[in-house]
Amino acid sequence: MTFLGMPAFAPRGVGHLRGDEPFPAAARTALGNSQMRRNLRHATTTIRGKSGRVIAELPDWQDLRSAGSAIKADVMSRLPELLEELETRVTAAGGTVHWAADANEANEIVTRLVRETGSDRVIKVKSMATQEIALNEALEAAGITPVETDLAELIVQLGEDKPSHILVPAIHRNRSEIREIFLRAMPGVDPSLTDDPPVLAAAARRYLRETFLSTRVAVSGANFAIAETGTLAVVESEGNGRMCLTLPDTLITVMGIEKILPTWRDLEVFLQLLPRASTGERMNPYTTMWTGVTPGDGPQNFHLVLLDNGRSAVLADEVGRQALHCIRCSACLNVCPVYERTGGHAYGSVYPGPIGAILSPQLTGIEDNASLPYASTLCGACFDACPVKIDIPSILVHLRNQAPHPRAERAVMATASRVMQNPRLYARAQRAAKLARIVGRRGRGLPPPFSGWTAGRDLPEFPDQTFRDWWAAR
Ligand code: SF4
Repeated sequence: MTFLGMPAFAPRGVGHLRGDEPFPAAARTALGNSQMRRNLRHATTTIRGKSGRVIAELPDWQDLRSAGSAIKADVMSRLPELLEELETRVTAAGGTVHWAADANEANEIVTRLVRETGSDRVIKVKSMATQEIALNEALEAAGITPVETDLAELIVQLGEDKPSHILVPAIHRNRSEIREIFLRAMPGVDPSLTDDPPVLAAAARRYLRETFLSTRVAVSGANFAIAETGTLAVVESEGNGRMCLTLPDTLITVMGIEKILPTWRDLEVFLQLLPRASTGERMNPYTTMWTGVTPGDGPQNFHLVLLDNGRSAVLADEVGRQALHCIRCSACLNVCPVYERTGGHAYGSVYPGPIGAILSPQLTGIEDNASLPYASTLCGACFDACPVKIDIPSILVHLRNQAPHPRAERAVMATASRVMQNPRLYARAQRAAKLARIVGRRGRGLPPPFSGWTAGRDLPEFPDQTFRDWWAAR
């Protein structure tokens, strides 16, 4: 069955798109963790610097951004036909395509496919889509052990933690914390383990090697899918993903429906944009591509699960749909002053930072993530950094308009609107505003019930004379 054209939000009770508390409360807790803030500041500053240097090398960076944006806009305008083309090509190449309307269906499909292989363990290459639907939890409930093989994901999994960054999920951990996690939770680890990064990486490699060689089923995400040939692509930095994608007998790929590109020629643009914007590399270290099944080479069973889980609802919003252009590079996180201070956990969703603030509320429906569009100063740094030119600030404002507002706020805004449309009332209100000089002083803010407004803002000092009075005096 095809679910395009039947937009529905991601269901409640499954997946990781909704937090336990609103952003302001979660952010307050996160801000109390000074170690995490130090780790984040160091990591985001380093990535920003590296990325800025390699982007400056390209004279046509802005043209590439425009091309990326145009390709994605084209994809969104004809998503149904491209997906059907992809299905035809993957099937012709020996793969099987499954359509999942939401997280529940996707989890059921993957669990069934793994059970059919008889395996009770799967290896995983880092995949945001499977985190979004909480696939690990669904597999564990079915008695199947998922093993994350991306180093940072492994740290998160062993630490029974949550990812806090799209690209560097353990960005909130420093190396001594990682050493402690390995000593506590990694089977067979050397007790004399140090916190030297190569030593930590070698310990993870030893642990994973045996798992790679003895597990027959892998689950992956996908960075891109090319409709014209049915080819899937995964880009990663460690090579662990390539082991997952080539060694097992069965490969199951879970991919959000927006990841599709029409042609190979389009992929060329994104393979230039993604590494420079994300890790600050000129070229991605490991780019693995496969088309269906090749006899005698790689997995002999390939399943592609196309995941909607709220994406059709995002597509239905002509302003908000730009969020589906995202290639998960994380550049917007690394430049965001809010993210740098709160970290990813405060966003409550697997998608943190500016992209999370516009994507999560649209996938779940604004009521379930109403505070996220406010997790921004609207400084615009994310828009400047985004390699596919997603206008995140405009979408944030668009979503703020959709968010439910308290009755008192709506009444105040309606009054303000009436006053601003009437010149005489507006002039009187300006004169009355001088009262603020009496009831509230700079640095102290307004008294209740308006104190919430000035709790985080300076109250501007009103001049003695309004412009109209000054004009009239001349
Ligand atoms: S919104 Fe843009 S900058 Fe942010 S992760 Fe997506 S592609 Fe990267």
